[in-house]
Amino acid sequence: EFEWSGALEAKLKEVFGHDSFRLCQEGICNASMDGRDVVAIMPTGGGKSLGYQLPALMVPGCSLVISPLLALISDQIMHLHEAGVDAVMLTGATSKEDSDRIYKRLQAMGSGPSVGPEIKLCYVTPEKIANSKKFLTALDRLYKAGKLARFVVDEAHCVSSQGHDFRPDYQKLSTLRERFPDVPILALSATCPAQVLWDLTKTLRMPKLTMASAADVDGTVLFSTSLYRKNLHYYVLPKPAGGNDSIMAMRDYILNNHRNDTGIVYCLTKKDCESVAESLTTLSEGQIKTGVYHADVPDTRKEMLHRQWREGRVKVVCATIAFGLGIDKGDVRFVIHHTLSKSLDGFYQESGRAGRDGKDADCVLYYRAQDATRIASLTYGERGGQEKALAMLAFACDVEECRKIQFANYFNKSSKLSFSSWATAEEDTLTRCGHCDNCTRPPETLEHLGVRGRVAAW
Ligand code: ADP
Ligand code: MG
Ligand code: ZN
Repeated sequence: EFEWSGALEAKLKEVFGHDSFRLCQEGICNASMDGRDVVAIMPTGGGKSLGYQLPALMVPGCSLVISPLLALISDQIMHLHEAGVDAVMLTGATSKEDSDRIYKRLQAMGSGPSVGPEIKLCYVTPEKIANSKKFLTALDRLYKAGKLARFVVDEAHCVSSQGHDFRPDYQKLSTLRERFPDVPILALSATCPAQVLWDLTKTLRMPKLTMASAADVDGTVLFSTSLYRKNLHYYVLPKPAGGNDSIMAMRDYILNNHRNDTGIVYCLTKKDCESVAESLTTLSEGQIKTGVYHADVPDTRKEMLHRQWREGRVKVVCATIAFGLGIDKGDVRFVIHHTLSKSLDGFYQESGRAGRDGKDADCVLYYRAQDATRIASLTYGERGGQEKALAMLAFACDVEECRKIQFANYFNKSSKLSFSSWATAEEDTLTRCGHCDNCTRPPETLEHLGVRGRVAAW
């Protein structure tokens, strides 16, 4: 029923070497080829990039991709170059020479019928749109020449101050529609609760959303797949009260279940990262090879860590949530939360960095009641902060409901939108996953745990 599928599939195989589309890729590509505005929500590792990379190769001109992080961009460029795609990036890390050359090529494309091969994909960080007059002028020329094929906003939840990765520069992206009204926009995200979805369509000036499955599709087309990833196994484990006791529990967990595996331990503060990493190393007598990542680690150290992690010389990164968006390592076998996240959105996103290769992975949350107080004080005064923290706490304390159903209910919750933003998540509220802690816990252990009523007590 899709007009472009044949041509798209041929290109999919020819350039990217994939035999078939995944999830909503086919729909996203077709809607894009039709020149529509599109919002696509698919889980991490679902293959969102292909939704714009493939159409970009099939239309004249250049698609502009806005992505929040240099590491994400470099990685994409590397893969595209391997596939022989003419893709460039203009970021703070681009050399003067490279950037001069790129501007020259864009200028050539913007001055009538272009000679030589076109730049098909140009990646920038949002600062370029927010701050660079030179860049906007180059876009003006492309636009006038009809060579601006599409705007792609990756990690689009960064637009919303309600999202956990809020980037103020993303708000300036309202310029795109205002200045270049005819260029279609594609927004991509893995976590997009209704409020965030609402914010992002408003900021990007995208018209009214309709589900892709609706009979009459007009305005912005929304594709959204289940957020549930069946290879992730969620567990909440009790966290011993003493400082070292909690690390020892974690050490034993890692050595018993994930000896030599790659993993992440998310910690609440920079100081926690340092001390957790150090204690894990000491208490395991060096058997667990740890690294540290947080905002204050100097850039050169961060790069070194990324390299050591890729090469397997560091296995377990103890990190704050600053370690996240740029991770492109498929074989993360476990993600441990040493402390509650500040919101369930954040927890979903962070734990979702496990198992991107589709193989089994564990997502473990260590919980003790005192940590609830820490989260409460940290989120105090943030708009909606307490509600979000409470949802996280409720998740941690629930010893009965399937984790998958809890996530689905949370993301499904009432919204300002007039339709359900989670088309397929609806089903997720009905069937248990069968493999999380609450699905596998023998019922008689419940009383023994003595954890009922903890939420109410807070
Ligand atoms: P996301 O941005 O949704 O997290 P990516 O676009 O980075 O995911 O893709 C994740 C991985 O899936 C990449 O390694 C990509 O090559 C692979 N992939 C994407 N689409 C397909 C497909 N149709 N068939 C096989 N592999 C795919
Ligand atoms: Mg992506
Ligand atoms: Zn379950």
